[in-house]
Amino acid sequence: MTTPLTSIEPADFLGLTYDELRDWLAARGEPAYRARQVCDGVYHALVDDFQRMPALPTSLRERLAREATITGPVTRASAVSKDGRTRKLLLELRDGKRIETVLMLYPASAEGRARATVCVSTQAGCAFGCTFCATGQMGFERHLTAGEIVAQTLYIARELRAHPWTAPDGSLIDRVTNLVFMGMGEPLHNYANTLKAIAILNMPEGLNIGARHMTVSTVGLVPAILRLAEEPFQVNLAISLHAPNNAMRARTMPVTRKYPIEEVLKAVQTYIARTGRQVTFEYVLLAGENDSVGHARELARLLAPLAQFGHVNLIPVNVTAAGYKPPSGATIRAFRETLRAGGVSSSVRAERGDDIAAACGQLRTRYGNARSLPIVALGES
Ligand code: SAH
Ligand code: SF4
Repeated sequence: MTTPLTSIEPADFLGLTYDELRDWLAARGEPAYRARQVCDGVYHALVDDFQRMPALPTSLRERLAREATITGPVTRASAVSKDGRTRKLLLELRDGKRIETVLMLYPASAEGRARATVCVSTQAGCAFGCTFCATGQMGFERHLTAGEIVAQTLYIARELRAHPWTAPDGSLIDRVTNLVFMGMGEPLHNYANTLKAIAILNMPEGLNIGARHMTVSTVGLVPAILRLAEEPFQVNLAISLHAPNNAMRARTMPVTRKYPIEEVLKAVQTYIARTGRQVTFEYVLLAGENDSVGHARELARLLAPLAQFGHVNLIPVNVTAAGYKPPSGATIRAFRETLRAGGVSSSVRAERGDDIAAACGQLRTRYGNARSLPIVALGES
């Protein structure tokens, strides 16, 4: 079947940088300041309809409604954790694929002020098949476009505008402060779209989220880590390590056969040398698998050479269909103490929103095939 010449897809403005938007408008005879007016509407007024941009002349609004779009995916389900600090969306893309986006609210701590962190998906499904990961068990569906990644953050920005959070210290959090690429999918497998989304979310005319407030988490794709080291954006890098040696890592993370730990660490050294940034190693604790004092000792030996540039984030596994269990508090304490004795700093990621299936891919696993889904107003907790 041939596509009729008249069916032109509307341009997705959420996937355009400011310069691209200006050029798109200029090609249609519009002055440069229109790009700023559109950005004001999308990223400051947070509207999802050109009709609600009064600064634009009516004729342009009508033209944009025909030729462009700022409408993101449809919300299919949402959930709020009991403490109200984790809010989650299940979104349906134009082709029916479903992805998840999570908002995590953190009170002020030694690490800084209260913050609102968005966890975005970069793919529908994932090709890497980590055994403990609900997304990995779905298989790969497709890459998300830059616009689909930006749209997730905008949804959360709107949600925070409508339902701001009052942190325990009294500060009002009504905007997105941090962004982590830790939702469904492998961001560095979808390199170009992830980097473009970073550029769009970073732009001063847009949400203006600082690159230093963004973290890209990767399963350890060596060539992509080396490429990222050369980018102008100084984002934080997190490496999903999850095991202290290749034999054990290969059992839960098949990617290890392609990129062994030594090669990943060499790429990380390059990243640190080029950027001067600290790198976080994520380590999902699986009871009885990778959580012994011996494993901690091996991990400390592996990471000690990175000295103050390496930090371990211990994550008690979120229970999925795979049947792994999180270790006890005592086991986690012993693991941390062994790392500390070996010269490696660590923190334990507090369990977030377990009651709403907040781990990567779990909401979709629960509601993935349902036809009608519960929609609750996110602000109601
Ligand atoms: N693909 C990237 C980013 C998405 S996953 C990566 O793997 O790094 C984000 C983080 O969630 C990763 O560290 C991943 O290992 C972790 N994760 C996956 N399944 C989990 C589970 N069941 N419990 C806790 N963390 C999990
Ligand atoms: Fe993919 Fe990351 Fe899940 Fe592994 S942990 S399957 S890389 S999303």
